[in-house]
Amino acid sequence: MIIPMAERMEGVRASEIRELLKFTARSEVISFAGGLPAPELFPVREIEAAAVSALDHEGARVLQYSTTEGDPRLREIIAARMNRVRGTSRTADEVLVTAGSQQGLDLSGKIFLDAGDVVLCESPTYIGAIQALRIFQPRFIEVPTDDDGMIIEALARRLAAEPRARVIYVVPDFQNPTGRRWSTERRRALLEAAARHPVVVIEDSPYAELAFDGPPLPAIQSLDEHGQVVYLGTFSKTFCPGLRLGWVAGPKELVDKYVLVKQGADLHTSTLPQRLLQLYLDWHDFDAHIQRIRTLYHRRRNVMLEVMDRFFPPGVRYTRPQGGLFLWVELPEQLNARKLLAASLAENVAFVPGGAFYPNGGHEHTIRLNFSNMPEERIREGIRRLAQVIRNFLADAPVAETASVDARA
Ligand code: PMP
Repeated sequence: MIIPMAERMEGVRASEIRELLKFTARSEVISFAGGLPAPELFPVREIEAAAVSALDHEGARVLQYSTTEGDPRLREIIAARMNRVRGTSRTADEVLVTAGSQQGLDLSGKIFLDAGDVVLCESPTYIGAIQALRIFQPRFIEVPTDDDGMIIEALARRLAAEPRARVIYVVPDFQNPTGRRWSTERRRALLEAAARHPVVVIEDSPYAELAFDGPPLPAIQSLDEHGQVVYLGTFSKTFCPGLRLGWVAGPKELVDKYVLVKQGADLHTSTLPQRLLQLYLDWHDFDAHIQRIRTLYHRRRNVMLEVMDRFFPPGVRYTRPQGGLFLWVELPEQLNARKLLAASLAENVAFVPGGAFYPNGGHEHTIRLNFSNMPEERIREGIRRLAQVIRNFLADAPVAETASVDARA
């Protein structure tokens, strides 16, 4: 029997990344596809000790239902840390613990979007946000970006032309997928443009602390004077993703709405993982742990770029991110990254075709590469193979002379 479904399901498709991850679970595959952190830096023993302590000392209490807002001590730690590291001034009751920042995206859609409303986002943008928000049937308007972030004049024009603009969604720190980071000036300019319109800015920032060359830039929320910015944070990239721990922080009136909506979604984030994280943060030097992650990713990024610089043919452009997990490749326009992927998978190398990061399609000559998950030797081997696959494709579809400028910066 065909079971009828809600109209909103029509736009819902399987994420390409998830489909790929099925394949990349095989050990022979060198995967640059997922956004997986390096598992060797997960604090396994520390989490084990926290679990033993929590169950020994608190027993059933850490297995009981708890409040929707989240563990009070954990919310305090999150607020204090965010204020210190990102320059915000939040109190614990302006923080809601969520099941990862992905849940923050889903709740944002529920709170702010009716069908036909407009979401303004970077072009390209995070595929999981497209997926989470699409179910609320908005119209996505992609705003062009450069190395410093969104082009604010373009954003301002769109805001003025779209009375149904409700959400500006941005990933300002080492963006997924491009690895780019917004300048402080752009952050300010975004707020200036947004302040003229009744829109919320969703600042999704999982990677800010993974800067290779210095402290994070101030969060957009820290510069906001109009109570217009909701910040989505996560422990997925700095602790581990499997416990599903993130947070929403913002003006209390807004966070209270997230609490209400979260109640309907899952009552609260699992009690035990919250306690494990809270004990971990109380007992250990989290800054030192993050420094180890940065050092490792920086090294892996360097290896990836070094091999790309050596073996990628002219005409292929790519970003040189100063933090995060990803870099972004633009192939000559006549190449199709989905077709390239098929050939690359035959060589046991996986990546994500970049077209998936554009809500309105196109840009099929782009790809996203993850550098955090594979050890150095596999990065070297995988990029060498990928370079060969690209060269083979180019041999079949030669680049026009004028397009083959070497623009690797
Ligand atoms: N936002 C962005 C920009 C991401 O890259 C990710 C993870 N890939 C998420 C949100 C979701 O992360 P999590 O739910 O694990 O916090």
